[in-house]
Amino acid sequence: MKNILKSLPKIELHRHLEGSIPIDLVLKWSQKYNLPLPMKDPRFRGDDKELRRDDIQAKTPMPFSTVLERLFYQQRCFQNLESVETLTYEVLKSIAQDNIKLLELRFSPGFMAEPQNLSFDGIMEAVLSAKEKAQKDFEIEVGYLLISSRDFGIATCQETIDLALKWKDHIVGIDLAGDETKFPDTLFEKPFQKAKAAGLNITVHTAEVTPAKNILTAHQKLGAQRIGHGVQAATDETVIKYLIENKIPLELCPTSNFITEAVSSLNAHPLKNLLKRGVKVTINSDDPTLFGTTLTHEYEICVEKLGMSLAQIKQTILNSFEASFLSRAQKKRMWEKYFQTF
Ligand SMILES: [Zn+2]
Repeated sequence: MKNILKSLPKIELHRHLEGSIPIDLVLKWSQKYNLPLPMKDPRFRGDDKELRRDDIQAKTPMPFSTVLERLFYQQRCFQNLESVETLTYEVLKSIAQDNIKLLELRFSPGFMAEPQNLSFDGIMEAVLSAKEKAQKDFEIEVGYLLISSRDFGIATCQETIDLALKWKDHIVGIDLAGDETKFPDTLFEKPFQKAKAAGLNITVHTAEVTPAKNILTAHQKLGAQRIGHGVQAATDETVIKYLIENKIPLELCPTSNFITEAVSSLNAHPLKNLLKRGVKVTINSDDPTLFGTTLTHEYEICVEKLGMSLAQIKQTILNSFEASFLSRAQKKRMWEKYFQTF
């Protein structure tokens, strides 16, 4: 089964560029730019083999502060625009190696720019150049989502939406991420309505650890067509019905949901039940380097821990195909080549 899952052509809708930099490159960049690693921390022993092994085995819940701390070592790699381009290309390469054929990759320009005060437009040019090269070198179609992080406030959200509108023809949509417990979705209604009116596709991280009803707010007030995580939906029957009636896809990420304690254990993840109920469920890896996973590994978890069949896995892939914001031309090419015989 593992080999079947590995070789299966895949689609990923919910994955962060900043949380996908392969760990050996995080180490290489730290050395290259003389950026100290916290050697006292047992997760950073200074031996890349140890770090890699530790990352892969990081299968225990982490406080959100630790998740952010780990992300910091990845964020710090964006030392200049050349680094942005090279690392994005390497991320796309590693994704293509996991047999992902259609990919939506998301990033926060504000977060990537932060360490060295890089220009937002420069970041856009660098990631687009990496995408062009990767699409030539590998069998993959890529679309970008720009993230507005709740934690950066409303002014930065507005700035990110304006950036997204400026680069509208080169991205596939926008996302709202960050701490949903401190910054409710309603704060961002105005800029997201502006984006919606301009025709941008929208997905919103919500109901990961906050109440299921926030999904209704994200859909009705922010114009979200898809929900990032939304794992709490399983706790509220009215929300499940709402998702089914409105055909709203959920971007579920089992390992991430377990590590951030959105679910109590991998076995308790509601992904399979929601799929059986008729919710448009998709499987994703979120921040694979942070959580020591791959999309193939997420599929393995669904089979081994949740008892999903290959047919059910394929159903989630078809859900991802339907829910994807990628262009018709990109989807058509891959449909004919990989997915129509599913
Ligand atoms: Zn996410």
